Amino acid sequence: MDKDFYELLGVSRSADPTEIKKAYRNLARKYHPDANGGDEQAEEMFKAISVAYEVLSDPEKKARYDQYGINGLRGDAGFNSQGGGSFDFNLSDLFESFFGGQGFSSGFTRNSQGSNDVQAQVEITLSEAAFGVTKAVELKLDRACNVCFGSGAKEGSSPITCSICSGSGVTQELRQSFFGQMMVQNVCSTCSGFGSIIEHPCESCSGSGVSIQDLTLEVNIPAGVETGSRLRLSGQGPAGPRGSSPGDLYVSIFVEVDDSFERHGDDLVGVQNISFLSAIFGINIPVKTLDGNEMLHVPPGSKSGDIFKLHGQGMGRLRGRGRGDILIYINVDIPSVKDLTEEQKQLLKDFAQSTGEEIDESNVNHTLFEKVKRAFS
Ligand SMILES: [Zn+2]
Ligand SMILES: [Zn+2]
Repeated sequence: MDKDFYELLGVSRSADPTEIKKAYRNLARKYHPDANGGDEQAEEMFKAISVAYEVLSDPEKKARYDQYGINGLRGDAGFNSQGGGSFDFNLSDLFESFFGGQGFSSGFTRNSQGSNDVQAQVEITLSEAAFGVTKAVELKLDRACNVCFGSGAKEGSSPITCSICSGSGVTQELRQSFFGQMMVQNVCSTCSGFGSIIEHPCESCSGSGVSIQDLTLEVNIPAGVETGSRLRLSGQGPAGPRGSSPGDLYVSIFVEVDDSFERHGDDLVGVQNISFLSAIFGINIPVKTLDGNEMLHVPPGSKSGDIFKLHGQGMGRLRGRGRGDILIYINVDIPSVKDLTEEQKQLLKDFAQSTGEEIDESNVNHTLFEKVKRAFS
């Protein structure tokens, strides 16, 4: 860019803004890439006049250019005489490039949108969730083609540099924006942003550089995960086209419902049935835990709803150390009168008599009457 900006636009140094704009418009129409079928010289010219116009249409930049030449603009926000790099077109970047920040230069990455990510689901048991587990996940994923090793080019050939964007993967375009006319950079449509073109595509992958493969991935699932937990395996997603960076693999966890425990965060809640006699006299009873069996001491006089805690026997904590607890709810089984033998009924009546409590058997009879009625209806 050593040509004089006024010369480039074909205007005199005393040209007014309208003249400059008009000159630029005419030239832009002439050299626009769309109008020149990808001609490299036209492309270069288009870039050059665009930069020239960017400066001369801005009174402040124009003043600096008039006084110091191109050196007056070096390091200027929003000015990039090289035309390399790229810039995502959004308002915040726009502001940044005009009012500070790094201007137009920012690396171009094909996967910046994260569109190349993939999801997988893994089902695990409660116990696996408590302790963590390594699971083999089978899935079909794009991986680098094993014929061309991801290049997309046929054996013995290699991709050639894109002549439209000179390998940068981006092209420049002049746009009307909120701030007036400005240069924006677009993904090069000729090479789709790769910066290179494959003349002789690999026959195995048709030039994509990837092929779908059956994979078994070992996934380390940490202790404490729950249904809905999502693990991100960075870079383990599908291979990007033509050797570009791979996406991420997201693994969603589904924890199976457990027969013995209900989960409450890091704690597990279970229910232990005991007989009314055990409730009265107390009992040592084995209860199932994640680690095996644990002897639970239920003291005499326990009631339904009493809770016993097994410290540190619950779920591993996803964040932090140690484990939650197991809470055992006691449920006292009260036998139904219909399940009692005549002898047992008599013993209970004798017990009642000893405490002075009266037994009201009308409800029992009522129930029997109901039963009979139902049987005949
Ligand atoms: Zn291939
Ligand atoms: Zn290109």
